[in-house]
Amino acid sequence: MKQFVVGVDVGGTNVKLGIVDASSRISLRAVFSTRKFISSPRCLIKAISQNVASLLKEGGISKKSVCGIGIGLPGLVDVEKGIVRLLPNIPGWKNVPLKKILKAKTGLPVQIENDVNMMALGEWKYGAGQGYKNLICMTLGTGVGAGLILNNEIYRGPGFAAGEIGHAPLNEHGPRCGCGGYACFERYVGNAALQKWAGKVFHKSNITLEEVFCLAREGNTRALRFWQDVGTKVGTGLIGAINLLNPERIIIGGGVSSSFQFMAPAIRKVIDARVMQTQASLVSIIKAKLGDDAGLVGARVLISSRKY
Ligand SMILES: [Zn+2]
Repeated sequence: MKQFVVGVDVGGTNVKLGIVDASSRISLRAVFSTRKFISSPRCLIKAISQNVASLLKEGGISKKSVCGIGIGLPGLVDVEKGIVRLLPNIPGWKNVPLKKILKAKTGLPVQIENDVNMMALGEWKYGAGQGYKNLICMTLGTGVGAGLILNNEIYRGPGFAAGEIGHAPLNEHGPRCGCGGYACFERYVGNAALQKWAGKVFHKSNITLEEVFCLAREGNTRALRFWQDVGTKVGTGLIGAINLLNPERIIIGGGVSSSFQFMAPAIRKVIDARVMQTQASLVSIIKAKLGDDAGLVGARVLISSRKY
């Protein structure tokens, strides 16, 4: 019986792999450094297929019992054609027919997807979004992005580029963004911006967000105030999306979500004060449940619901 799915989560720093069993549990894992195999896409794809093979061997799992490989990538992915259009943070990845190459190398069905969409799929079916038909799963980290589940389906848009909430501007003028725009949400609440902000607040340029989280946990008022102000910014960035899409739930994941408990009251306050009444009354804001595993678990959803 086909019961296992191999999940692969490609990041700019690490590639994570996991065997996801029928109950969405990750029974075996592997991780390797992306940087070590960065010389060419072929080199990274070879490392992925070798790691898939050794994971299956380690678990004594035959290919016959594997439904397929679901792989999430940090960039623009043509899900239908199986082509990675562009990975902004991994050099050389432009129009790579990943699905075809990996299928030939492993002999297994392969589905590819944007990493934030993979996380949204995982949280929707097995995490904080279970039972909801309309949700926004937002990741707060180096990048700020969102996976959209609308009417019980993932919404990707015709160019597979939907969900870029981090590039919705908060102001008419503001800091220039890598996307070509100005004053994008990500330029205010992405990791780089938050670290700079924290540096100013604490008069210590090398303070990390983890340190500010720990300070808040210890009850440090300046740290608590910092996360409260971040929550106000996050809430402000969500207003337009909530008014536009009328979601039932917003799930917040990514590295910065560890401080969710300190941001949540301020996020809620902004939403109650500024979002239109119907949309505000229907939406709940919750922290992601699956943490770093959301993408791997999402591979199971991707493979079992595949249309392409
Ligand atoms: Zn931008």
